[in-house]
Amino acid sequence: MPSREPKVIECCGEELPCPNFTNTCPHCSADYNWAGQRLAPRSQWGEETGESVEEILGIDDMSVDELLKSD
Ligand SMILES: [Zn+2]
Repeated sequence: MPSREPKVIECCGEELPCPNFTNTCPHCSADYNWAGQRLAPRSQWGEETGESVEEILGIDDMSVDELLKSD
């Protein structure tokens, strides 16, 4: 059975659970997605996606349910 536990990765020598859409290491500010994949630095987000950082960061405050029904 698939586990409902959040993905836990290791960063800066410490375990970093990734239960959210984006998860930030408190030590180096690296961002990881829910799958534990390292995201591009936030300074590059706007350039790559054409979206504002504010738009992208707003997703952090939304639950998955909110994301799904927002469309
Ligand atoms: Zn780190």
